[in-house]
Amino acid sequence: MSGATTMDRLYVLEGGSSYRRQTCAPETESFFNVQDFSAAAHWAIERIADMLSRDDVEGVRLQRPVDLMARARNLMTAADLGCFDARRFADILELYLETGIKVNSRGYMGRQFSSVMPVTAVFEMVAAMAPQPASYYEAGQLANIADRLIEEVFGRFIGWPPGSFEMVTTSGASLANMTAALVARNRYVSGSWSGGLAAGRSTRPAVAVGQDAHFSVSRIAGIIGVGQDQVIRLPLNDRRQICPERAAATLDEAATEGLDIFCLIASAGTTAIGANDPLPELAALAKRCGAWLHVDAAHNGAFLVSDRLRPRLAGLELADSFCLDAHKALFVPALCTLLFYREKGLAETAFPHKDSYVFDPFEDEMTAVQSGVKNFECTKRPAILNLWLAWSLYGRRAFADKLEHLVMMTKAAHDYLADQPDFIVPYRPESNILCFIHQPLGVCGNRLSGLQLELRNRVRAGGRYLLSKVDLDGQTMLRIVLMNHRIGLSDIAGMAAEIRRHARDVLENNATRGKQNRPIRLQPQE
Ligand SMILES: *Cc1c(COP(=O)(O)O)cnc(C)c1O
Repeated sequence: MSGATTMDRLYVLEGGSSYRRQTCAPETESFFNVQDFSAAAHWAIERIADMLSRDDVEGVRLQRPVDLMARARNLMTAADLGCFDARRFADILELYLETGIKVNSRGYMGRQFSSVMPVTAVFEMVAAMAPQPASYYEAGQLANIADRLIEEVFGRFIGWPPGSFEMVTTSGASLANMTAALVARNRYVSGSWSGGLAAGRSTRPAVAVGQDAHFSVSRIAGIIGVGQDQVIRLPLNDRRQICPERAAATLDEAATEGLDIFCLIASAGTTAIGANDPLPELAALAKRCGAWLHVDAAHNGAFLVSDRLRPRLAGLELADSFCLDAHKALFVPALCTLLFYREKGLAETAFPHKDSYVFDPFEDEMTAVQSGVKNFECTKRPAILNLWLAWSLYGRRAFADKLEHLVMMTKAAHDYLADQPDFIVPYRPESNILCFIHQPLGVCGNRLSGLQLELRNRVRAGGRYLLSKVDLDGQTMLRIVLMNHRIGLSDIAGMAAEIRRHARDVLENNATRGKQNRPIRLQPQE
């Protein structure tokens, strides 16, 4: 933003006699000043509206940590002024906006979080000022009711009979995955909540996960006491889905080694390429082993709201539990995760211990709808309200339309890149995630992987596009996630052109340096 505009806004912000610097009293009341709040909020809203209506192509502006530390530290000096400093407020907000990933820009293609439906952000502020901590009915009445209403809505999409299943909200899929695994452990590894895992057992409890499972899934065994040595990695097919036949063989082998698989965790939308595991086959496999089936549908679970995309989740209804992140493909502020259990009554078995200062001995109509006993969290943001609000205002189509568009656009990006002679696109996208390799003539093997990493870094440093990268079977690939519905094919072409430009620079530099025996390292560095 230009200096002049900042000054204009600051004038508004500083106007009015009641909150000028000189008149500030160092009493607590002055920190809770309503006029300061109004002025700050008006300024921020204008600033955000300005940001949302811009059409710049921007990724992220990375700064060196020492520089950012110095700038941020600078804003902390004289913090006991005892009054509202409009200029400092503006400077802090600007620094925040400057350093963030530009999720509303067409250059943002690198991550799984979305720009949010703007009205939900307004509600987010209201919810911060008038909180409804969501674990207890007394504190979060509407939050707990909204949980039940969204549960109903999604139950219809899943096809589960009303009243037969349940849903809890958590702050993130990482927590949801762990919570579901705890329910599985408490159910199948008898006595483990009190006696631990060793209690009277000759076999070792184990968890099976796909090779491309999210890192939150890979960590679960360590967290819930099963131990990372008891994680069985299930092999993938050529579309990077768990291969049921080979998985069955792996599980049989594990069983003969004394491992007792009590939980199988599949994915609907792997982080790497957005692949959906074959759920009907895996449900049958879990049943055969006597294991719980949890599906990490953090990314693709949102397909439930779309008639066109829902068939891609076939078999999800067979899972014992699954989670989906509304803060990803349902476009509400983070964090908002829905965790579903196929059988009602199981959610509260995750945490069997109940303390009297928060839980009453007998359930009544109010405590019956609260989520506290089913949740790891105590104070919990009522994040469900953002989803409920957007759903109430706009209905299903708002979500389905954007999601379908993103998936269609990703397919178009696949076709476009696959048509280029110098791009390799190894997997057809099942979602809005696409991996690809830029291969200039004559670059192969380790140098090709090294080049992708160098390209990700250079493109990111250029500030126009933000891409990510992923290592799959020893090959580094570039990765895009289309979360912004404004991105069109011309943006994909622009991104590809920028990649080519950087690749030419790298290779030319190397040719010159090569003569001086100092080529840039084109080896994988991670
Ligand atoms: C994002 C993601 C997670 C982690 O979810 P958080 O909400 O960030 O905790 C887990 N699994 C998959 C497949 C994801 O895409």
